[in-house]
Amino acid sequence: MIPRLRLCFSFWAYPVLAAALLYAGLAGAPELGGLTGVALLASGVVSWTVIEYLLHRFVFHPETGRGARERLAERLHGVHHRVPKDPNEILAGPEVSLPPSAVVFGLLLVGTGSLPVAAVVMTGIWGGFLCYEGVHYAVHTSHAQGLLRRHRRWHFHHHFVDAGVHYGVTSPLWDWVFATRRKRPRGPKPQLFTRSDRPS
Ligand SMILES: [Zn+2]
Ligand SMILES: [Zn+2]
Repeated sequence: MIPRLRLCFSFWAYPVLAAALLYAGLAGAPELGGLTGVALLASGVVSWTVIEYLLHRFVFHPETGRGARERLAERLHGVHHRVPKDPNEILAGPEVSLPPSAVVFGLLLVGTGSLPVAAVVMTGIWGGFLCYEGVHYAVHTSHAQGLLRRHRRWHFHHHFVDAGVHYGVTSPLWDWVFATRRKRPRGPKPQLFTRSDRPS
């Protein structure tokens, strides 16, 4: 595959896949074109934030990783922690994102028993995933401004201070729910010198 096409694989492949799935799935289910479809799409986006948290916490950073599990984590994420500015390690290639996508879509199909429903939820999940790819790329390669500054602070804390906290990249929600935000130092706050009481 052409290197540039491979680098931004997620941004062209998943919209095409989603469009094909929606075209095939919604042909016989016009009722999903309204509010029900919007709700399913939103549930897919929220599901992505859960998947992102679980993958990052338990697959990318296994607590007792040995053997195959550790090698998998190393390939999928360890390299990114060692060369955090390498775009090829920030963005997910097809070998990283396609297999989990196929597994999740298979589970959705079996779980819902409906191709149209699975197609809409999967589109929401891919939408969340593309947000993740964009936010992750921006925090590593730009002087993230506005809202992204907080994402950058949290993610850099995970990278460079404590890899056991801040697993969420697009959302801090599940770090808050599962208490994996960084711990603030306890005890009295250090002295803050103002202009009038600064030691001479
Ligand atoms: Zn990163
Ligand atoms: Zn990590």
